[in-house]
Amino acid sequence: MRIDIITLFPEMFEGPFGHSIVKRAKDKGIVEIHTHNLRDYSTNKHKKVDDAPYAGKGGMLMTPQPIADCIDALKKDREYDEIFYTSPDGELLDQNVVNQYSDYRNIIILCGHYKGIDERIREHYITKEFSIGDYVLSGGELAAMILVDSVVRIIPGAIGDEMSALSDSFQDGLVAPPAYTRPKNFRGWEVPEILLSGNEKKIDEWKHEQAVIRTKARRPGLLED
Ligand code: SAH
Repeated sequence: MRIDIITLFPEMFEGPFGHSIVKRAKDKGIVEIHTHNLRDYSTNKHKKVDDAPYAGKGGMLMTPQPIADCIDALKKDREYDEIFYTSPDGELLDQNVVNQYSDYRNIIILCGHYKGIDERIREHYITKEFSIGDYVLSGGELAAMILVDSVVRIIPGAIGDEMSALSDSFQDGLVAPPAYTRPKNFRGWEVPEILLSGNEKKIDEWKHEQAVIRTKARRPGLLED
C-alpha cells in the first residue's frame, strides 16, 4: 500500500511512523508512506497557504490552490482508491471501515488546519471524509496517524502473529476478553484457573463468554449493531 499525506507539518509524522508496527511494515515494504509539505505547492511568493474566510468571523482557512496542485501532481503518477480528508463532520472511523481501507493500494490523506479547508476542495477532490471522534483537534495530523496506524497493522504481514490482529477488540463485534500473563500469582491475585487448564475448547468458550459480558457492560451499542 502507498500512502501520501498532505500536511503543513510533515515532521509530526516522524515519531509515530518511526517505531513499532508501522516502522516494521515500512521496512518490510508492506507500506510506503510519503509526506508532502503543502507549503511547497503554494504559488504565493510568501508561500502562504491560508486566507481569511469570506464573511467569516475570525480564524483562517486553507486556500484551494496549493491543495489542488498537490493532489493533481500526485494523481499524474497513479490512480488513488480514495482521497481522504480529516474532518470532525466526517464518517466516524471504526474497525469495519478500517478493515475495508486495508485493501486499498493507493490513498491520499489531506490534513486540515486552522478553521479547515475551502469547501470547493471537499466537493471536487475529496472522496471520503473521516473523523476520529466528536471533539475538535487543532489539525488533521493526529487523525491521519490514527488512520494509518489502524490500517497498516491489519495488512497481512505487518504483525508477526497474524491471528493477534484478528483477536483484537471489534473484529468480531465484541471487545477483547481480559488477558493475563506470568506470574500465575501476583501479590496474591490469581490468574483464572481455566486459562491454565490446557483445554482449548473450554478456554475459547470462556474467552467468548467474557468478551460478551464485557461488551454488554462497556459497549452495549456493539451488540445492538
Ligand atoms: N472549523 C472546523 C474545525 C477545524 S479544526 C469545524 O468546526 O468543523 C482543524 C482541522 O483539524 C480540521 O480541518 C480537520 O482537518 C482536523 N480535525 C479536527 N477535529 C478532527 C476530528 N475529530 N477528526 C478528524 N480530523 C479533525
